[in-house]
Amino acid sequence: MSYTTIKAIWPGEKHEDLEVLRNSHGSAPPIWNAMCQKYLGCDDLSYMFDGKIDELWPLWKDQKIPEHQRAVLMMTYDRAYILKKDYARAAGDIKKFLKDFPSPSNHVNHWPRIMDVLENDTDIPAIGLNCTSVDPFCGDWNEEKEEYAQPDWGACFDLYSKIDGLKTANQSPDSDDKEPVIIESRCENCWEDAYGMSRYTGKAQNACYQELVKMREKNPCTPKKHAGQFWDEKKQCDIRIIRKCNRY
Ligand SMILES: [Zn+2]
Repeated sequence: MSYTTIKAIWPGEKHEDLEVLRNSHGSAPPIWNAMCQKYLGCDDLSYMFDGKIDELWPLWKDQKIPEHQRAVLMMTYDRAYILKKDYARAAGDIKKFLKDFPSPSNHVNHWPRIMDVLENDTDIPAIGLNCTSVDPFCGDWNEEKEEYAQPDWGACFDLYSKIDGLKTANQSPDSDDKEPVIIESRCENCWEDAYGMSRYTGKAQNACYQELVKMREKNPCTPKKHAGQFWDEKKQCDIRIIRKCNRY
C-alpha cells in the first residue's frame, strides 16, 4: 500500500510526519489528472503517458490559469511547503479547487483531510506533503548514524512566495497583470550618478543617492539600468531578485 504523508516542517531545521494517509492515489493523482485534462487536452488518467506529466510541471507559472489551481498543483511538488501565515489561504485554495474539479465519490481523495489540517490552526511553522513513497524531505541515508540526513533546505521552498513572486516579476508585455515590478535593491545607476554628484557637491554619496532617487521618482531608471552589474541578460532580470524572476 502506498501512502501520502502530511509533513510538519521547521524550514532549515527539521521535519516530522504529521499524519499518514493510506493510499497515495488520493493526493497528487487527482490534481494532476484534473489539470492535465483541463489544460493539456488529456483524456481521463492519460496524464501518465507520453510525457504529458512533464508538460504539467511548468503550469504553475501560467498566469492564465486561476491562481488557486496553480497553488494546489504546487502543493504536489517535491519539497514545496506552506508557511503558517498561508494556512487559511491554502485551505481556501483547496476548497475552490475541489469546487472546480469535484472528485468522483468512488475515488479516494485526501484533499478534504489536508484542508482540515490546514484549518486546524496548528502551531507548526510549515506544512508540506509527501505524495510518494520517497520522502522528498529526507536527505541521503547516513550509514554511520543510521538515519536520514537533513534535506537540502535550499531546494525546499515556500510555494506561495513563488506564486506571489510571479505577480511582481512578470514584465512580459502580454501579461494582464499591471502591477509594477517591485525592486527593493539599490539602483546601481543612481548609485553611480550619486558618486559623481558627491564629488561635485562634496555631499555624502548616500545623501546624493537619496536625492537622486527622489528626483527620479516619477521617471525611474529602467530595470536593466537599475540592476547595473547585477543584470542577467539571458533571464532579463536583476539577479539580486532572481527568486522573483519567472524565467528561472
Ligand atoms: Zn535609478
